Amino acid sequence: MTNAPVVLDKYSLGVGDRFAHQAKAQLAACMRAVERGVTVIPIWNKSNREHLIVGSQPSSTRAAADAAVRELGWTRPYYVDADHINLDTVDRFLESSDFFTIDVAHAIGRPVPQDVAESFLRRHPELASADALAAASKYLLAVGEAAQIYRRIAESKPPGTFVTEVSMDETDCPQTPAELLLILAAIADEGIPIQTIAPKFTGRFNKGVDYVGDVEQFEREFAADLAAIANAIERYHLPRNLKLSVHSGSDKFSLYAPMRRALRRCDAGVHLKTAGTTWLEELIGLAEAGPEGLALAKQIYAGAYEHLEELCAPYAAVIDIDSARLPAPAAVRDWSAEQYAGAVRHDPANPHFNPHVRQLLHVGYKIAARMGTRYTDMLVACEESVSRNVTDNLFTRHIVPLFLG
Ligand SMILES: [Zn+2]
Repeated sequence: MTNAPVVLDKYSLGVGDRFAHQAKAQLAACMRAVERGVTVIPIWNKSNREHLIVGSQPSSTRAAADAAVRELGWTRPYYVDADHINLDTVDRFLESSDFFTIDVAHAIGRPVPQDVAESFLRRHPELASADALAAASKYLLAVGEAAQIYRRIAESKPPGTFVTEVSMDETDCPQTPAELLLILAAIADEGIPIQTIAPKFTGRFNKGVDYVGDVEQFEREFAADLAAIANAIERYHLPRNLKLSVHSGSDKFSLYAPMRRALRRCDAGVHLKTAGTTWLEELIGLAEAGPEGLALAKQIYAGAYEHLEELCAPYAAVIDIDSARLPAPAAVRDWSAEQYAGAVRHDPANPHFNPHVRQLLHVGYKIAARMGTRYTDMLVACEESVSRNVTDNLFTRHIVPLFLG
């Protein structure tokens, strides 16, 4: 007997757990959703870049997820996502992942030969438009590379045993809904059984802070993308559960209501990939746990402040930090727990809130990684406070507004 192929549920939540200590607290947020009658599948995502910065192996993500599922008795599916992999990085994820985010954004715009684009459009007269040739030329090579990576994965894991996502979000130029349809046609031609697709949406998706852009324009584009997906499923026989994946960079609070409305109208699902805000909740939890946790959280700020340029460089495209708005470490040393937590926690109504501090700490996890067990031992010592913050953040600020409304 063969097992049925894995079919990703309608709603799923990508969570990042940089130090592999919060899987249980993250899963607890999904269990709260189940108590409220909605299934939201957890997917633990960690990119190669995060593994390199933290010094961890993909197997540690799998081990933490499995342990959390066992301990809490979660009986629904869950996945471990090889986040933003490419041909160079996929291999080390093959064993422990069952969800692959194939990132081909770097190949967008590398033109294919004219006759390749033309013959694609001859096969797809339904895509004909004034812009179709330019779009085919812009995206076909990227889709070809996605197919190469998919086949590499399928060589070592039987098809149907993993979920495939194609991501094109880490680029400056958003894809239009018409381009999304063309991309999906090309993906279907290549035989990639795609279940989620992550386009680049209009506007800025900075790490750890709210959306910057025109929310109404986003809502129109999001709804048109949902229509393109529904169209592609019928026309190109793509998996019925194919859905959008929104790489939020976390905390796009102003988009949740418009997304929820559009999803309800179309009865569509979504994968919401949050980023490292769990790590920020760890810092908040440490600060609130007592003097030792607070002192360590302040040390991490001081380290991040000192290494500002080094920490921000890999994330330059997705953060906006005004260094003049960053308090000196000497000033932070005098902060109370309430001030520290207030500065970092994403509550713009709190007078202590400082998005510059928050973004700097967001990319500052390398400082904690360098502390090694001194940091992770403190997480264990402050577990009650940390896990409460991690669960509350995911449930109250993300799951409720997007999935429960
Ligand atoms: Zn992404």
